[in-house]
Amino acid sequence: MATSIKDTALPDWRLQEILNITNEWALCNGVSIKAGSEGSETGKAVAAPYALFPSVVPAAVLHQAKSTMVEFNRLMHKIALDHEFLENSLKNVIKVDPFMGRLWDIYERVRSAGVKQPVMVGLFRNDFMMNCLDAVAPGELVRADRLELKQIEFNSIASSFGGLTQQLSKLHRLTVGLAGKNVTNKQLPENEPASGLASGLLKAWELYGNPSAVIVFLVNPIERNEMDQRWLEFKIYEKNPHVRILRRTFLEVNETGSLDSEKRLLIGDDEVAVMYLRDGYTAENYPSDEVWNGRLKIELSRAIKCPSIQYQLVGAKKIQQELARPGALERFISDHQVVQSLRDTFADQYSLDLGPEGDKAVELALANPDKFVLKPQREGGGHNLYNAEISKFFTQHKHSEERNAYILMQRIFPWQQKNYLVKTGVPFALSDVVSELGIYGVYIGSGDREIENYECGHMMRTKITGTDEGGIVAGFAVLDTPFVL
Ligand code: ADP
Ligand code: MG
Ligand code: MG
Repeated sequence: MATSIKDTALPDWRLQEILNITNEWALCNGVSIKAGSEGSETGKAVAAPYALFPSVVPAAVLHQAKSTMVEFNRLMHKIALDHEFLENSLKNVIKVDPFMGRLWDIYERVRSAGVKQPVMVGLFRNDFMMNCLDAVAPGELVRADRLELKQIEFNSIASSFGGLTQQLSKLHRLTVGLAGKNVTNKQLPENEPASGLASGLLKAWELYGNPSAVIVFLVNPIERNEMDQRWLEFKIYEKNPHVRILRRTFLEVNETGSLDSEKRLLIGDDEVAVMYLRDGYTAENYPSDEVWNGRLKIELSRAIKCPSIQYQLVGAKKIQQELARPGALERFISDHQVVQSLRDTFADQYSLDLGPEGDKAVELALANPDKFVLKPQREGGGHNLYNAEISKFFTQHKHSEERNAYILMQRIFPWQQKNYLVKTGVPFALSDVVSELGIYGVYIGSGDREIENYECGHMMRTKITGTDEGGIVAGFAVLDTPFVL
């Protein structure tokens, strides 16, 4: 839509009219989020931040991202079952990163107790940026073959925005129309990630095999993104209104949950078939031992977890970096074409583990800090280091083990477009923006048996050029969808 925005050149009064319509539409149709603690609206539903128009993605690029998803899904499952690979990849991280160390302890506890539930469920989101090989002015169209699709990260826990994005896809049909453009299904394709993700949870519930057992959405006590989660819940009811779904926190699971002699997880009197984690992805989610105990109880149980502790570990940035090593993918995938198609999406990545290889990476980063991103093993946005922060970090930790907790990644400079980002408190103006494309996927596997594996839709997050981080709830980016050219 980038060039279309420029070409359309709507007058301000009409833009304002459109904005008034879209803001109300967003609230009426659940493109919404709970207001943060900063104002009088705290806890009330407000429109989620969104791009007024969809952002352009070349058809070939979207196809590339979507077509690799089932291979990525399968790869994640295979890694989750490969103890040796997990241990070799994470052994230096867990020594210095207490959060990762504790996740690893839980994994070891599960292993020594014997895995009680072989079925594992992933609701994944694979995130990419379009690295632009040419220097073009923001808003100019770029040939698809001058854009490299590069993976930013693979999310294996609490992959969010399937719900809100499903609704935003509908809103974007409206905004393009209101701007006076006709739009085809190819340009704004059907996009129903919440539906696909809900099917995954429902399938897991069926596999558990007790029709009176419940699905639990494990949520943070202070959750601004509740509506996104509710969309998944409502989609499950649409498919099967007889399933009961509870929302619980780790603390509540710790206090009211118990394991019976068969390791069934009971919350009060309710047996849990599926535990869907929308919390527990990052260190701040575990403020006390009681919270950690809640997580441990879940992992030691027979409930089907989405994700299991193994799946969460596989989503670590360290694993992504280890997979980018020459030959690493071949351990899991025998088809060379498949290997190549995944590897094509990898950015350059470097281990920082103490030793000569890590030393070289540190030198690289210090020579050109603006060309890299320094990433710890965290989720949810706001944790990476850029530019001067990188130099500062390595000045302090050049030869210390602290650096094992991070990986170094080539910085992607995405194609810049023009769009209006609609956020409360931010002036409404045509801005230079960059986008991150996410592809949703569902995987259900039990040992070597693949039970479900599909790709189920896409999303975009768009931010003002020059903003380092990308989180929406964290306030950096807005929701968006692809306009396929
Ligand atoms: P998180 O799990 O916290 O979301 P990410 O790896 O996705 O961690 O990083 C957060 C944000 O930082 C991304 O949404 C993106 O905007 C930016 N980012 C991450 N890696 C890169 C990169 N290699 N190049 C450019 N930007 C990046
Ligand atoms: Mg991310
Ligand atoms: Mg993430």
